[in-house]
Amino acid sequence: MSESTTHTIPGEQIAFIEEFEAGQNTFDDGDKVRATVVGIKNINKKDRTASVTNTKVLSVPKVGDIITGNVAAVMSSMIVISVDYINGIPIKAPVECVCSIREIRKKNTALVNDIVTAKILNHLNGAIHATINEPDLGVLFTKCRKCGDEVILFRDAIKCKECGWIDERKLASNFGDKSFIKQE
Ligand SMILES: [Zn+2]
Repeated sequence: MSESTTHTIPGEQIAFIEEFEAGQNTFDDGDKVRATVVGIKNINKKDRTASVTNTKVLSVPKVGDIITGNVAAVMSSMIVISVDYINGIPIKAPVECVCSIREIRKKNTALVNDIVTAKILNHLNGAIHATINEPDLGVLFTKCRKCGDEVILFRDAIKCKECGWIDERKLASNFGDKSFIKQE
């Protein structure tokens, strides 16, 4: 039975210290080498080390990453997005990014609690900056601002199925595609 690649949980025994030294993401409890993170066990027989590769997604998006999340706040020139996914992978610890909406000429670029997808532009002054100003970026899911009901595409705008209110958002090209919900 090969045990060279198996998932570990923190505290799990991965080797005996008389055979292997504690490598990355492990500790030596005086008898055994144990994992400190969720990851993949690596037993290196040549170096006689036991280590774990961390598979938990780092929750800080990098420049160029595509993120999906909930709109946490809407201000006159920017929105704040609470990031849930980085490149389609759910993240464990919440992180927020800000998105300028100054150049977007829409009545309501996005509303609080809308689900949006954005691209990370840079990290500046301790904030993560993103953009939704590209065709495939913007609102994926929104509701009627008047009654909170479901909306459908109406030309390049949206229309409430319930009250008929017509409104605008900066819609992503795949608006209405609910597949992002099933990623978890
Ligand atoms: Zn409505």
